[in-house]
Amino acid sequence: MSTSTFPSQRVGDFTITAISDGYLSASLDFLSNIDPSEASRMQSDAGQKEASAVHINCYVVRGAGRTILIDSGAGGIKQWGGHLKTNLSLAGIEPSEIDTILLTHAHPDHVGGLVDKAGQIAFPNAELVAHQREVEFWQDDGNLSRASERARGNFLIARQVFEGYRDQLRTFDAGEVLAGISAMPLPGHTDGHSGYLLESHDQGLLVWGDIVHFPHIQIKRPDVSIAFDQDPSLAAATRSRLLDLVSSEGLLIAGMHLGELGFARIKRMGGSYGLLYETVA
Ligand SMILES: [Zn+2]
Ligand SMILES: [Zn+2]
Repeated sequence: MSTSTFPSQRVGDFTITAISDGYLSASLDFLSNIDPSEASRMQSDAGQKEASAVHINCYVVRGAGRTILIDSGAGGIKQWGGHLKTNLSLAGIEPSEIDTILLTHAHPDHVGGLVDKAGQIAFPNAELVAHQREVEFWQDDGNLSRASERARGNFLIARQVFEGYRDQLRTFDAGEVLAGISAMPLPGHTDGHSGYLLESHDQGLLVWGDIVHFPHIQIKRPDVSIAFDQDPSLAAATRSRLLDLVSSEGLLIAGMHLGELGFARIKRMGGSYGLLYETVA
């Protein structure tokens, strides 16, 4: 079966495909620096019928003899997402074919799909690659003891994943993580939150993780952070810096909470930014 029904882009020798895991629901009340009624208006102006629906993308990168999964969706945790496995199968990809998993960070909507309901690892042949600080953060008992009741569950999920993949876990600080793929530290959302820049034959694409959760609000208003950001002001500064960079360079982007089209470019519009989905490979 071909991947033609899933949004795909070619970046030199790489092919990257957006695979939906489904949706999670997050109240607009979680946003800071914006009135919920204004946030709601921006969602409806952008044609978003379910104002609190946040889409979850995962990405499969093929090329250089590799089959790489970037993040794994929520796996049905908290009744979020859970469609990655079915959609991978529809794209003709077996879990055993995935040889590398790149993690942008270890929130449940990104690692939930890495283990099955019985706690077994879902991608037995994959090396799990994550930023050193991300792994250390979730394994630190001091951080766990300071966490809120809601966030404690996130620690247990992240720890279960890192424990399951302990024999196939590789951490990095910065730089190239695989041939043609470099990690880009994007701190603020989490300690080790990282983007991945694919480069091949003078073409590039950045997978930017959780730079935005509500793209139609936060790209126009980069100062708007969300309760999931560990350091809201650093997250906002990182978001502003990155929007400036990708709009200046015209860089193609992919993001875990973009819509189902999966790929976009950012255009500078007056003193702000706009989102243009890229629909043609
Ligand atoms: Zn996150
Ligand atoms: Zn997320």
